[in-house]
Amino acid sequence: MYGDHAHCYRSWCGFLKDGDKYKHSNLPHGKDLTSDSLRSDLEKIFLGNESVNPRKLASLSSSQANKNFNNMLAAKAPKAKHYSSSASLGYRIDSSILQKNEGYAYISEVHASMGLSPGEETIKRSSKINMKRKKTKEKAKTKEAKRRRFFLKQTRTSKTASKEIREGKTYESEIVTDKESQEIPEIQDITKIPLNEQEVIKAPVVIFDLETTGLSRKSDITQLAAYSESVNFSTYIFPSQPIFKEASDVSQQHCSSIQVGS
Ligand SMILES: [Zn+2]
Repeated sequence: MYGDHAHCYRSWCGFLKDGDKYKHSNLPHGKDLTSDSLRSDLEKIFLGNESVNPRKLASLSSSQANKNFNNMLAAKAPKAKHYSSSASLGYRIDSSILQKNEGYAYISEVHASMGLSPGEETIKRSSKINMKRKKTKEKAKTKEAKRRRFFLKQTRTSKTASKEIREGKTYESEIVTDKESQEIPEIQDITKIPLNEQEVIKAPVVIFDLETTGLSRKSDITQLAAYSESVNFSTYIFPSQPIFKEASDVSQQHCSSIQVGS
């Protein structure tokens, strides 16, 4: 980026391949960076940090970690839905970050820190998913898996190359033929809404709890209680099946612990 190619390799450095024609594709006007203070900051991050492997970063060979996080985020805040003016967007992003950094157990940890029971089934399920994730990760590290990925990548690349020979390039930045570029109408600017007119939807936090006749999937709910800010709600529901002893024990324990707590 600073025009110093002493440590570059021909396999990925455009400057070493063709120095006269080379321009940085992702820097303003394709020119080298010049700021020394930025350079020393960057060196501190990439060279002074043992967890960062500059060799891997240099060729930008894998954006897998980013894609992985992007998928988590897309599941909680899909782009097709408009969440940017809703206060829930913050929670959605926060939970994606927690899932990425802490694993699936984050749900029960959040519950515990809010003073709620962390939920046995939630813990069981999250540890199951975590185990699965760990196994997949270990499997991906084996020589066989790496060889398979390499083979698949090669097949993909050669397929694309052979298609490009036949059809020409179909996917690249700024790819429009002259005829097409004349037909594309200009997209109008977005009308800006003044700050005082913007209404941010407030999402209140609702804490709720269920009591059930048992621990199976087909159990009935016997009590539903919720509270939000200063509003309390509690209702009992007549079950259609007998209450199991374990469930009634749990409910009783729960009641007594609430009484102790209050
Ligand atoms: Zn270079």
